[in-house]
Amino acid sequence: MDIKNIRNIGIIAHIDAGKTTTTERILYYAGKTYKIGDVDEGTTITDYLTEERERGITITSACVSCIWREVGVNIIDTPGHVDFTVEVERSLRVLDGAVVIFSAVEGVESQSETVWRQADRYNIPRLVYINKIDRVGADPYEACNMMRERLSVTPLLLQMPYGAEGAPKGVIDLIRWKLFVWKEGIEEYIVLDIPSELKEEALREREKLLEIVSLHNDNIAEMFLEGIEPSVHQLVSAIREGTILNHYYPIFFGTSLKNIGIQPLLDGIVDFLPSPSDLPPVVGTAPDGKEIVRRPRLDEPFSALVFKIVQDPFGKLSYSRVYSGKMSRGSSVLNMGTGKMERITRIFFMYAQRKKEVNEIKAGDICVFVGPKETKTGHTLCSKENPILLESPTFAQPVVSVSIEPKTKADETKFLSVLKLLEEEDPTFVSRFSEETGNIIISGMGELHLEVITGRITRDYGVQARVGRPRVSYRETISHEAKGDGRYIRQSGGRGHYGDVKVIVSPNSDGILIENKIKHGDVPGEFLPAIKEGIFETLNGGVFLGFPVVNIKVILKGGSYHEVDSSAIDFKIASGIAVKKAVESAGPCLLEPIMNIEIIVPGEYLGGVLEDMSVRSGKVLYLQGKGNLQTVRATCPLRNLFGYATSIRSLSQGRAAHTMEFGHYGRVPEQAKEEIVRQLRG
Ligand code: GDP
Repeated sequence: MDIKNIRNIGIIAHIDAGKTTTTERILYYAGKTYKIGDVDEGTTITDYLTEERERGITITSACVSCIWREVGVNIIDTPGHVDFTVEVERSLRVLDGAVVIFSAVEGVESQSETVWRQADRYNIPRLVYINKIDRVGADPYEACNMMRERLSVTPLLLQMPYGAEGAPKGVIDLIRWKLFVWKEGIEEYIVLDIPSELKEEALREREKLLEIVSLHNDNIAEMFLEGIEPSVHQLVSAIREGTILNHYYPIFFGTSLKNIGIQPLLDGIVDFLPSPSDLPPVVGTAPDGKEIVRRPRLDEPFSALVFKIVQDPFGKLSYSRVYSGKMSRGSSVLNMGTGKMERITRIFFMYAQRKKEVNEIKAGDICVFVGPKETKTGHTLCSKENPILLESPTFAQPVVSVSIEPKTKADETKFLSVLKLLEEEDPTFVSRFSEETGNIIISGMGELHLEVITGRITRDYGVQARVGRPRVSYRETISHEAKGDGRYIRQSGGRGHYGDVKVIVSPNSDGILIENKIKHGDVPGEFLPAIKEGIFETLNGGVFLGFPVVNIKVILKGGSYHEVDSSAIDFKIASGIAVKKAVESAGPCLLEPIMNIEIIVPGEYLGGVLEDMSVRSGKVLYLQGKGNLQTVRATCPLRNLFGYATSIRSLSQGRAAHTMEFGHYGRVPEQAKEEIVRQLRG
């Protein structure tokens, strides 16, 4: 397929806006599935994991391909829950355009706003599909108003809904100047003239449409001023240009459940969203640190980004976006994440219910590689001769942890391999063994994230496990400078042990910094790697309460060695002792994740929500009303937010919506620290 005939798109929406249903219908009409799946019956294609089916939300960003008007449309599934915004970011990174779905009843909800802003960050051209126009209380135009007000963007209405409120029959196409009507039980819509009683309103809407397009297109502007009607082709290509430049967002109406409006939306995807060749070249880094670009062309060196790992009976599937060049089955490529060569044994395109094996892939394609063993989400694969590191998406910090262990000893090996698989799939999920408690601790982005993970371990992989209570992932740091000496000296006849290291620690604004000021000759350079390793290991394992120590500078001040007895391990142990002592006397303190929260709440519940926020030691940063809806933005320590979803539901009788994401690490106040220490130690 020619690169101009590829659309790599995402469908982004608030939970329940109808993303799954719409994806289903798109796949159906684009001819690749045989029965319209139904979310309510739990038989959809994109929601293939048990977990997702049960929750009715889509977590995995799998990619499904279909063909419409001879254009290959690759739909990269984006999750809607805010705990998984990182998944959203990851998929946004590899797509070229998106369809944003709003519900005609709820309009632009707070989560849709969050996702919209994320898409802004990647400059993604978007179409907007206003779904559920069949529902009682649907107000399709209000969603457009909300776009203007809440998102400060220009909606470009290409259609008008047709039919009585709650009983839509079709849409009026303002570009083609026709009425499209869907009859029950018949797939194809029929094309009619616009009824005379609606012509006046339709003319007004078309006038508005031309006015907006004119603002960004001189050709159309001239025709508009001279009263010349542009042709469908002229209008479509002008709108395509404006959409790709994010000047405005074309609006489509429909109801996926009742099968109204899908085909025109598919036409819109083909007509208005960019192909990989319409966008700027991808920017990456060469091994020497210089910025380089790769154009989406076949004569450029091969480069691809792995955006999703999925385990499948076939083996490990690496969902990848190819940015430049081409590559054929059986080739070896360089993985920039590991520095190793990996062989691509098979290549697939993923259609809804089947895989299509291909021999070659090229710039612009989204495909699945089978073969790479050590590849993880976010890794770049490229040609050995022309290495490039494509900027990997930035992943947020895992802030919540639970302890977990298999119920039976027999499951232990399987349990550990499942954890490894899950870590490969999801870079925001981390597991580690805790020396202190003697069991495995898993960490993730939020309560729901970990619930989903433990659900996958027990249900999808069949490992029964005991799961502890969710806990906050704290960090340790220090308040002032301090010294520490570490000596590891043993004399036991024969060869002994001798390591001696002196350090000074001081607060550092970010991360761990080690500086070597040991006088030449005091300790031979060959022991330096072991000394650093000892320091990193001790800091990562925590000194005060077992949480990683961060924001610290360690100066290696001095030490001594023994000609015969000293070995690397002795220095590793000695430096560990030294840094531990230093941290202990440097006023250790705790840092905690502070979350950013946004709450949208009807006015009558605002008082209760604010009061509750203050009880949780939250700080309100912003408060603004629109109509009866109030928007609250606040920061709040994560430790006070467990179960927040339930509590806000009861405070607002289910009418408030909220989103939460990690903001930064903040210092735990003294009184709170005592309580936390008691809980953790008790
Ligand atoms: P997602 O959470 O965004 O993937 O939304 P789903 O596709 O799962 O839809 C959420 C609910 O809305 C389901 O019960 C659907 O049957 C229903 N739904 C989806 N589209 C429509 C529509 O056009 N009209 C109506 N009335 N309900 C819809």
